[in-house]
Amino acid sequence: MPEEENKRLSYLDAMGVQVWQARSTREVEVVEAAAGARAHAATLAPGASASVAPTVTEAGADVDVSQLDWEALRARVQVCTQCELHQGRTQAVFGVGNRNATWMVIGEGPGVDEDRLGEPFVGRAGQLLNNMLLAIGLPREQVYIANIVKCRPPQNRDPRPEEAASCAAYLARQIALVQPQIIVAVGRVAAQNLLNTELSVGRLRGQRFSYDQSEIPVIVTYHPAYLLRSPKEKRRAWQDLLLARETLRGLGTGDS
Ligand code: SF4
Repeated sequence: MPEEENKRLSYLDAMGVQVWQARSTREVEVVEAAAGARAHAATLAPGASASVAPTVTEAGADVDVSQLDWEALRARVQVCTQCELHQGRTQAVFGVGNRNATWMVIGEGPGVDEDRLGEPFVGRAGQLLNNMLLAIGLPREQVYIANIVKCRPPQNRDPRPEEAASCAAYLARQIALVQPQIIVAVGRVAAQNLLNTELSVGRLRGQRFSYDQSEIPVIVTYHPAYLLRSPKEKRRAWQDLLLARETLRGLGTGDS
């Protein structure tokens, strides 16, 4: 079996996909197609949209965040004191990846490892995210990864609504600069803030939403940290990624 195929099967295995079923590449494709079809059959949410507003005042201090370029935006985030989360950070965690990415992954906020290293999704959860992306053929470097809040909440608690609101303009500007063709919201906090809802991930996954007033599709899935605690849900996360890829292909980009 070619090395590339071996690698792919190991990523699928990390996603909880039963690779023992795949005695040939064709059978893997059959498994993917079946999972994708189930995801596709999920109910579409009419008119659902996100609500992150790239307003000037939310980021405060006389800075029009919506006009900043990458370097000015990063510099602004590094010194931001707009919410109390700045008090406990080692550093703000801006975001990482391809600034011209087709795929954008948005999580909740930095944890202890991210706060220390200054990069989102590192550690075990980050490794699982990498494997999730690789399972659909996406090296981490090919996507852009960011969080709802850029500073670590104490004791890894959820960001409060006012903290997410304070940080929203930064994320909105990142999205505007990247101009992704699809957004994957990982975890409840990311999904709820991006879609302005209080529904659970279980209720939101398997559907296509759109970001703000745009036509950028948003697909919701579980946070890799949750998947580490609940590995049985990996199969659903895999279905979500297939839905995202299928959505992208439906847009006619041909870029998965
Ligand atoms: S979380 Fe966002 S708004 Fe709050 S201090 Fe950090 S960068 Fe600023």
